[in-house]
Amino acid sequence: MIYIFVTIFPNLIEPYFKDSILSRAIKDGLIDVKFYNPRDYATNKHKKVDDKLCGGGAGQLMTVQPLFDCLDDIIATYDSCHILFLSACGKKYVQNDAKRLATKETIVFVSSRYEGVDERVLERYAAEVFSIGSYVLTGGELPSLVLADSIARNINGVLGNDLSLKEESYNTDNMLEAPAFAKPLKYKGQSVIYGYISGDHQNIKNIKNQLSRQKTDYFSPEQ
Ligand code: SAM
Repeated sequence: MIYIFVTIFPNLIEPYFKDSILSRAIKDGLIDVKFYNPRDYATNKHKKVDDKLCGGGAGQLMTVQPLFDCLDDIIATYDSCHILFLSACGKKYVQNDAKRLATKETIVFVSSRYEGVDERVLERYAAEVFSIGSYVLTGGELPSLVLADSIARNINGVLGNDLSLKEESYNTDNMLEAPAFAKPLKYKGQSVIYGYISGDHQNIKNIKNQLSRQKTDYFSPEQ
């Protein structure tokens, strides 16, 4: 899988791939990461990528020329680009999107700044537009990383143990994972749930299913 980040702030994204699971995935050849800066494509004297909004309004907007040229270059260089835009106005991103996108060959994450991008960029290039939640951030870099990270976990071989995927939240009927414990069995007066250490695997499974259902009802009653 190739991840291509389109951003005027690549330094906000790059360090995330220097450690832990994603750095190992890069070393193992499962993920390749590239950066494209729209500023490098700006043809104006001052390499500006933003301008005032047509019709007035607060702030600036990312303009068509640098983004059109940058994305055209990417499309000409890589096969089968799936271009995603991050926007507070997008479809709410969920785990099923992460699973689905993990089968793509090349994903392009377009991060905006200012008040977002000129709508014509979306009309021309967007395969999908995602929001990571009902709030507004200063830029698309964090949302791009949220998607990249969650997609990577669903690529075969990225996690040390693929069973982790099956047993975590949102993978079985959109249920949340049951509470988890590790040793010591008792600490500062608090104990591990007794049933978890009974040794009876069917019983442990039943308890976990029940707790998982309760947790899901409590935190995600819409499931
Ligand atoms: N004017 C935009 C609006 O009202 O929806 C907000 C622009 S925001 C300051 C700048 C950029 O941050 C957005 O274009 C988008 O790329 C990113 N962004 C902000 N909030 C986001 C969210 N909840 N999900 C995904 N991207 C977001």
